[in-house]
Amino acid sequence: MRQKRFFLSEDLIPRQWYNIVADMPVKPAPMLDPATRKPVTEEDLCRIFCRECARQELNATDRWIDIPGEVREKYTYYRSTPLVRAYGLEEALDTPAHIYFKNESVSPIGSHKLNSALPQAWYCKQEGVSNVTTETGAGQWGTALAYAAKTFGLEAAVYQVKLTYEQKPYRRSMMQVFGAQVTPSPSMSTRAGKDILTANPNHQGSLGTAISEAVELAGMTPGCKYTLGSTMNHVSLHQTVIGLEAEKQMEMAGEYPDIVIACFGGGSNFGGIAFPFLRHNLEGGRNTRFIAAEPESCPKLTKGRFEYDFGDEAGYTPLIPMFTLGHDFVPSNIHAGGLRYHGAGAIVSQLLKDGMMEGMDIPQTESFDAAVLFAKAEGIIPAPESGHAIAAAIREALKCREEGAGKVILFNLSGNGLVDMPSYDQYLRGNLIDFRYKKD
Ligand SMILES: *Cc1c(COP(=O)(O)O)cnc(C)c1O
Repeated sequence: MRQKRFFLSEDLIPRQWYNIVADMPVKPAPMLDPATRKPVTEEDLCRIFCRECARQELNATDRWIDIPGEVREKYTYYRSTPLVRAYGLEEALDTPAHIYFKNESVSPIGSHKLNSALPQAWYCKQEGVSNVTTETGAGQWGTALAYAAKTFGLEAAVYQVKLTYEQKPYRRSMMQVFGAQVTPSPSMSTRAGKDILTANPNHQGSLGTAISEAVELAGMTPGCKYTLGSTMNHVSLHQTVIGLEAEKQMEMAGEYPDIVIACFGGGSNFGGIAFPFLRHNLEGGRNTRFIAAEPESCPKLTKGRFEYDFGDEAGYTPLIPMFTLGHDFVPSNIHAGGLRYHGAGAIVSQLLKDGMMEGMDIPQTESFDAAVLFAKAEGIIPAPESGHAIAAAIREALKCREEGAGKVILFNLSGNGLVDMPSYDQYLRGNLIDFRYKKD
């Protein structure tokens, strides 16, 4: 019998996260304070983040960082996650490639986001913080944080991008079930929100507007810290549990990936699966390709510029050295809400600049074609975000068919699409369109 799943076991959960910055030949440039143009310090970051996350954010020397015992214990509720050989998809594509996927959709909230929400909430709790706040695009991060906050006895306030607040009402209900307070952004509850709405009363919100509001709330409220679900170094660090498990599971499968693929919003699930494998490229000895699949309508990796830019719409965050479409870029209303972000994280941006990874842009309809083909072949309905990774994997697998090359492809299934069925409905009715990126 062909083995499809590679061994699930608590023992596979790592005891340390992998900090790729320690191994990078060219480190990411420092984040800058916009007022002074000086590199931000731990103290600067602590004004909005908890201290341990601020420390991890700036840590460029420790390759391995311990996972707190209590966090690892919460990981055991859903980890290790399965590594699956996608025989069904291989057959559907008639490809000689071996396709594997790491299934992060099995977490209680349905995506990889919990891997970072749990440690962020735990560190806040340890440091005596009572409230956490954040933004959420598609709702997955907000759901993860709401659940993690509840797990460790914190109150959570979430700003949800207005468009998805309306498009994905079940995400809001999920956050509310976990006890979070949810506000559509831009809102009138913050100065940033008021300014944005005054300039554009019909603003449908973006991750940039929601980040501005959450950062403002954290800065103004004692005992309240801001948490972030993507882009920052410490978030990618936490997500390396994905790749570290996958590394051991690929070993059990007796293979090693030639190509590693993930969809790309701010880079956390990409970094999570890619960095542990990339470390073998950096050490020498391996020559794996790394592909980040982004929407054609929000193509910061393939069409953005590498420069210092803000992480949010209002300009409250430090200046980050990154590939960006500009912090005032408002992405099209694609259904992959988690990929509607103007910039890429600092680590990933440096790696891209140094040619250690590639970006690939995928049209919305191609991502849904891929998602539906995958669902039929593997029985899992993927998140629209993950559809981009699947589309990239399919492109590579078809190339293998043309070339008669039996490469090993590994992609990350970042989440399931069970609360995204309205977008599948639109696809099935033939109502989905592609948005091209237009430079103005
Ligand atoms: C948030 C999210 C993404 C995009 O965020 P990254 O930080 O780039 O990983 C992708 N897929 C799913 C399912 C998400 O929830």
